[in-house]
Amino acid sequence: MVKKLVFIGGGHAHMEILANMARMVARGYRVTLVAPAEYHYYSGMGPGMLGGTYLPGRIRFDTGKMVRKAGATFIRDYAVRIDPFKKRVHLRSGSFLDYHVLSCNVGSRVPLDLVKGARIPVFGVKPIEKLVRLQAEIIRRASARKIKIGIVGGGPSAAEIAGNIWQLATRRGARVPQITILAGRRFLPAFREAARRRVLALMKKRNQRIVTGEYAATVAGNGVITESGRRLGFDLVILATGVRPSCLFKDSGLPVGPDQGLLVNPFLQSPEFPEIFAAGDCIFFESRPLPKLGVYAVRQNPVLLNNVLAQSEGRPLQSFVPGKGHLLILNLGGGKGLLTKGRLTLGGKPAFIIKDFIDRRFVAKYKVLE
Ligand SMILES: Cc1cc2nc3c(=O)[nH]c(=O)nc-3n(C[C@H](O)[C@H](O)[C@H](O)COP(=O)(O)OP(=O)(O)OC[C@H]3O[C@@H](n4cnc5c(N)ncnc54)[C@H](O)[C@@H]3O)c2cc1C
Repeated sequence: MVKKLVFIGGGHAHMEILANMARMVARGYRVTLVAPAEYHYYSGMGPGMLGGTYLPGRIRFDTGKMVRKAGATFIRDYAVRIDPFKKRVHLRSGSFLDYHVLSCNVGSRVPLDLVKGARIPVFGVKPIEKLVRLQAEIIRRASARKIKIGIVGGGPSAAEIAGNIWQLATRRGARVPQITILAGRRFLPAFREAARRRVLALMKKRNQRIVTGEYAATVAGNGVITESGRRLGFDLVILATGVRPSCLFKDSGLPVGPDQGLLVNPFLQSPEFPEIFAAGDCIFFESRPLPKLGVYAVRQNPVLLNNVLAQSEGRPLQSFVPGKGHLLILNLGGGKGLLTKGRLTLGGKPAFIIKDFIDRRFVAKYKVLE
């Protein structure tokens, strides 16, 4: 009997699966990948695309083309439910796919719960392709007058988005928007003080404001209302409040972790349904929760690839070992970055150059599959 391998999503965690799809087809598997769009955008270069450093075409993968070129089936659709007993994935279009082994890479989303009757445009920092529309919206509005932009969230993506809006306006000769970051309790709370200070100094130079000590309660009317009832008016709001795993698993009644990510054992496998695997932002890693970072999705690639095939072929599975720390480099716009790894902090141009090199190399590695 022909074995059916079904893959949901073609993001960071499925890149090695994509790179090895032709091999799977050659081994006689029936391989199908479902994704809601032909293209997948690489998030590491998303803020740079917003700032105009990269064109959208340079930072995206033509997933549909990669799958078809490998001789597999690409279905442009959206998985809405997994039935682990029938081993079936239900799609938004109403059709379904049966599997022998399933691998999920459905990522995460920015929760929109804060938005309640906003009369201004509100954008999430994910999915990355939305940043293309955000860029057009900023240019359109900021060409005519000085606009006010509110960024809700005090993490790394808020800093990257603020820096790249500044770059965008500066490069395009538009009026530089007044940016206010509503950072909650503290801005960049997970960063060492030296790193935080570097970012704060750069933002001060660019006249960007940071509101700390309280959280945004709602995005309503023409701005944001904070927990203490303060109203801040904006022309546009960006949500960078952190991400939550896709609700696909919870909606399917599958065992999930506290964040609703699919509960997986060290083999990146559902402990209850051994033919279901997952990786990236959409999992809750049983041994210890992992940061929602592409770095981990990328590190999981070889283990996921090995285990999907090993499960199909009855071979032993490999454990994923997350490793101790990770390198994080922010693109702060204007050719400047911030690199952190453990106790090491490096800022300015060198940090951006290293990031640009790493990101371009990653994209080039998989673009050859198109
Ligand atoms: C602005 C920004 C910048 C970032 N920069 C960095 C960085 O520099 N370094 C870093 O390590 N991390 C970074 N991150 C985090 C990083 O984006 C995520 O950790 C990473 O994308 C997770 O990869 P993934 O494979 O789990 O999901 P993704 O790469 O998001 O892939 C998920 C895919 O699944 C598809 N999908 C979703 N739901 C369904 C469904 N129901 N059916 C079918 N398909 C579906 C989506 O369309 C998408 O293509 C950044 C995040 C943001 C928002």
